[in-house]
Amino acid sequence: MSDSNKLAVQDRWSDAEASNLADLDALVYQSRLIGSDPRLVVWGGGNTSLKVMETDYRGRSGRVLRVKGSGSDLKAVTPRDFPGVRLDDLLPLLEREQMSDEEMVAYLEYAVVEPRSPRPSIETLLHGFVAARSVLHTHADAILALTNTRRSADILREVFGESIAVVPYLRPGFALAKLVSQAANQPGCQGVVLLNHGLITWHDDPREAYRLHLELVNRAAEYIERASQAQTSAKPEPLTAPDAPKRQEIAAALAPVLRGLLGKTQRVVSHFDDSEDVLSFVSGQSLPLERVRAALAAGAATPDHILNIKRTALWVEPADLTDAQAVASATQTALAQYQQDYQQYFERYRQDEPMLAPLPRIVLVAGLGMFAVGKDSHATTVSSDIFHHTIAIIEGAERVDAYQSLTPKDAFEAEYWPLELYKLTLAPPEQKLSRRVALITGAAGEIGSAIARRFAAEGAHVVCADVDLAKARSLVDDLNTRAPNNRGLAVLMDVSSEASVAEAYQRVLLEYGGVDVVVVNAGVAYSSPLDKLSLDQWQRSFAINATGAFLVAREALKIMKAQQTGGSFVFVATKNVPAPGKDFGAYSASKAAQAQLGRVLALEGGAYGIRANLINPDAIFGASGLWSVSVREERARSYGIDSSQLEEYYRSRNILRAQVTADDVAEAALFYASDASAKTTGGMLPVDGGLREAFPR
Ligand code: ZN
Repeated sequence: MSDSNKLAVQDRWSDAEASNLADLDALVYQSRLIGSDPRLVVWGGGNTSLKVMETDYRGRSGRVLRVKGSGSDLKAVTPRDFPGVRLDDLLPLLEREQMSDEEMVAYLEYAVVEPRSPRPSIETLLHGFVAARSVLHTHADAILALTNTRRSADILREVFGESIAVVPYLRPGFALAKLVSQAANQPGCQGVVLLNHGLITWHDDPREAYRLHLELVNRAAEYIERASQAQTSAKPEPLTAPDAPKRQEIAAALAPVLRGLLGKTQRVVSHFDDSEDVLSFVSGQSLPLERVRAALAAGAATPDHILNIKRTALWVEPADLTDAQAVASATQTALAQYQQDYQQYFERYRQDEPMLAPLPRIVLVAGLGMFAVGKDSHATTVSSDIFHHTIAIIEGAERVDAYQSLTPKDAFEAEYWPLELYKLTLAPPEQKLSRRVALITGAAGEIGSAIARRFAAEGAHVVCADVDLAKARSLVDDLNTRAPNNRGLAVLMDVSSEASVAEAYQRVLLEYGGVDVVVVNAGVAYSSPLDKLSLDQWQRSFAINATGAFLVAREALKIMKAQQTGGSFVFVATKNVPAPGKDFGAYSASKAAQAQLGRVLALEGGAYGIRANLINPDAIFGASGLWSVSVREERARSYGIDSSQLEEYYRSRNILRAQVTADDVAEAALFYASDASAKTTGGMLPVDGGLREAFPR
C-alpha cells in the first residue's frame, strides 16, 4: 500500500493490549480503534457490537447484545455507552414481515438489560440479526467513494467479487436489518456494502472482524489509487487562487457579511478553512470545476452526513475575488438561490413536519476556501471535519466513475426522519450568551479572566485578547477543558497598536466569523501627584486607556455594522470617572476620555442595535496587573496609610462596607453583554459597594 493513498487505513490492533481483555473491554478497545481513524468514521458515525453471555438480576444467564448507544462517539466510548439488549427478545423479530421505527424503538425499550441505559443504536436490529459475535459498521471514505457512483454495482463486483453482498440504499431500521441478515448469513459472505451508507463486517473474534473490515476498505482504496494512476483525461484548468495572506484578508472581509446573512433569525458562528485539500477542490485543481459543481449538486454522501452538513453546500463563484463588494453580493445572490431551492425541495417531499432552517452548513467560495457554519464552534468543527471527508469521497468517486448520491427524496427522508428530529428536541437549552462571540481585552488580568470565565459559563465563544499571550493561552486552555472544540481563543493584542488590533480581529473573523460583545477592559494605572507625573506616564495612560479603547471599539463597530445583528460594548471604566482620585490624574483623565467614547458609541450605534454601557468598579485587588506593588504603595501613601491596610481602607469607605471583587464586575459585564439589558444603552453601573461621591448623575 503506497503512503500516498489517502483513503487507505492502517491496522492498529495490538495483541499485547487486547489479548487479555474481557468481552466488554475488548469491544471498547475495538470500537476506539475504529473511532480513532476518521477515514472510517467521523463524529458519532458507525457502530459496533458484541454478543456475550451475561447473568441477569435474577441470577439467570442468557445471551446479550452489547451495542453502541445512540449519540455516543466511537473514538471516546466507554463500557457504559454499550447498552445490553436481550437476544432472546430480539431474534423472534426475524419472523416478522415489517415493523415501524416507532414500534422498534418502543420494543427495544423493553428488551434492554439495565433500566436507564442509553437508547441502543438505531442499527441495533442489524447487529442482532447477524449471527457472528462481533459486528462492525463504518462509513469508510474508500467504500463510499465506490458506492456513490453511477456504476456502483459493477464497480463493487469488480473490486470485491462474489464474497461481498451489496444492499441497495434503505434508511436504517427493520427492513434494512432484515435485508442485511439475509445476505450476511449466507455461507461465504464476508461483508455487506450498503449503498450510499457504508460497510459491515463480522466474525466471532473481534480482532478478525476488525482485520477483515480494514482489508475490505483497503481493497477499495487500492482500486481507487490504481484508477487515478491510470487516469489520462485532460488536466483541469484550475483557478489561480490568491496567496495565503490575501485569501485570509478576503475571507475576513466576507465573514461578517456571511454571518449576518445566515444569522438573521438566529446567530451562527463560522470557521474559515483553506487547507490544501479544500483549496485544491474549490479551485478546480483536483477536479475540473464543472465536475465540482455537479458533485456538489448531487449532495452529501450519506444520511449521517446530511444530518450534519445538510444535503447540499452553498457554492459561490465570484467574478473577482479581490473585489470585496463583488464577493459579498455573489454570496448574497447564491444564498437567495440556495434558500429558494431548499424551499422547493421541502415543499416537494414534506409530510407535516415544519421546515428546518434553510441554511447551509458549508459555504464554498471558488478559489478561496470553505466556511463551516453552525450554532457553535463544536458544530462548525463537526461540519468541517465531515466536509474534508466529503471531498475525499467525491474525488475518489470521480477517479473511478462519476460521483452520485442519495436521491433528493431519500435525502429528505433522512433529514426529516422523526427519530433524528426527536434528537434535536433533546439539545440543551440556549444560554444567555449562546451563539455569541465575546472579545475581552486585558483578558489575562484579574477582572478580564473573571469576565472570560463568566461568559464561557453562559455559552459564549470567548476571545481572550492580551499583550501577554502565554497568560491568555493558559486561561483559554482552562476554558476549553470545560467546553471543548475551540470555545475559547487566545489572541495577542496590544490595544495601543492599530496594526496589532487589526491583526487580532482578523484571527477572530477567520475563527468565529465575527464579534457580538466587546469588553474594553485593558488598562494601565500610575499613581503620582500631578507635579511629579512624567509625560511618559501621562501619554502611556492615554495610549492604552483612551486610544486603545478607541482602536478596539472602532474595529468591532465596523464588523458589527457588516453583520447587521446588533452588538454590545461594555467599558470597564472606574469609579474615578464620576469621582476622580487624588494623585490619580493620568488614570482618571484617560478613563474619562474612555467613558465619553463609550457614550458617543451608544449614540452612533443605536441605529444598528449596537449598545454601549459602562461599569464603574472601585479598587479590585488580587493578581490584577493594574494594582502593581508600586501602585499599591503609591495609593496607600496618597491616603496616608500603610499599603497592608489598603484593602480594608477601600472596604470601609463604601456604604455597604463590602469588598468588591472581580466576580462582582463579571456579573455586571454579563448583564450588559446579554439580552437582560437589551433596552439599556449609554448606562453606567457602579460596582463599588456604594460611594456617595461616585453616584451617577
Ligand atoms: Zn451507518
